[in-house]
Amino acid sequence: MNGADQRIPVGVLGATGSVGQRMVRLLDGHPWFRVAFLGASSRSAGRPYREAVHWVQDGPIPGEVAEMEVRDVEPGLDAPLVLSALDSSVAGEVERRFADAGALVVSNAKNHRMDPDVPLLIPEVNGDHLALLDSQSGGGIVTNPNCSTIGLALSLKPLHDAFGVHSVHVVTLQAVSGGGIPGVASMEILDNVVPYIGGEEEKLELETGKILGTLSSGTVAPARIQISAQCNRVPVIDGHLECVSVGFSRDASPEEAARVLSEFQGATRGLNLPSAPRRPIHVLTGEADPQPRLHRDLDRGMAVSVGRIRPCPLLSLRYVLLSHNTIRGAAGGALLGAELVVARGRLAGYDPPGT
Ligand code: NAP
Repeated sequence: MNGADQRIPVGVLGATGSVGQRMVRLLDGHPWFRVAFLGASSRSAGRPYREAVHWVQDGPIPGEVAEMEVRDVEPGLDAPLVLSALDSSVAGEVERRFADAGALVVSNAKNHRMDPDVPLLIPEVNGDHLALLDSQSGGGIVTNPNCSTIGLALSLKPLHDAFGVHSVHVVTLQAVSGGGIPGVASMEILDNVVPYIGGEEEKLELETGKILGTLSSGTVAPARIQISAQCNRVPVIDGHLECVSVGFSRDASPEEAARVLSEFQGATRGLNLPSAPRRPIHVLTGEADPQPRLHRDLDRGMAVSVGRIRPCPLLSLRYVLLSHNTIRGAAGGALLGAELVVARGRLAGYDPPGT
């Protein structure tokens, strides 16, 4: 470790993309982590970050990284912890090589999410699934779920614990930043809605069961919840909205559901993780809440907002949720996952700085 700076060195793979840029922003001034290297494709490697990146974030590129040379995504020994925002065409193989070389990789990509020995982590929901790391060799891989799945699974967790969820129907309205850079062309999305996002419905339907599943004898038995998802791209920059109908095994009123949602703290309670929201779920009572422009930044973009909780004529209850797709649903979620990894003593040789 750097003598003056006690923070843990981290590498960012895919640092020039939509999620990678968010990651770089969130790491600026982070109390536990400092950027040790930035990796991207051969198109970017060898250039200063400020030249290689097509910066689309609010605010300037952080001074600490603006002149840092972007590297090829080859394993080195410069960082024990690697945050990956790589395109899925390369993420699977590259992340495995970094893990084999001894790094602990926290990934946003889909490639390893359903591997039986890889935690599909939402820290508040299934922090105990980090025990799957015991079955892995090398440094290890932890994955962040799909961006829409994170909001859905976070809202389902307290409802499932309290009332037993058996069925879910969800329709998503997803922001353009979810498609990466440059993403969907303006001529296709302005004045329009695109009722198809490749692979997204399958991810919502498959990943949710693993996240809410039960860890036993070193494997996760998926939760038995039937999910039907329909996904749409809408002309919003950040923030995925989801209209959810949910069927319970036990009766629950909208008021009871609102109470368990707003009281939910989850497995990160008391750990003081730097990226944790004050409350993972904010229940909003305005008749037209939540809305992307108004509520996506609640709790620094790390909270899920839930509103319009009401009876459903087909299932038990229905509600609308919103989560920030590149913060809670990607970069911020992965950072919170990395913080949990460190706090739980799973980054060999490193404790949370300052403890
Ligand atoms: P993106 O904007 O397209 O960024 C992709 C990144 O991968 C860029 O840094 C790119 O580098 C790098 N890359 C592409 N090909 C490469 C190669 N052959 N070798 C090395 N690096 C390569 O995508 P994104 O939206 O940030 O998404 C990144 C990952 O997170 C994806 O796996 C995505 O599915 C997942 N994810 C995204 C969101 C979201 O809301 N956007 C949410 C959850 C998960 P260059 O700039 O050099 O090409």
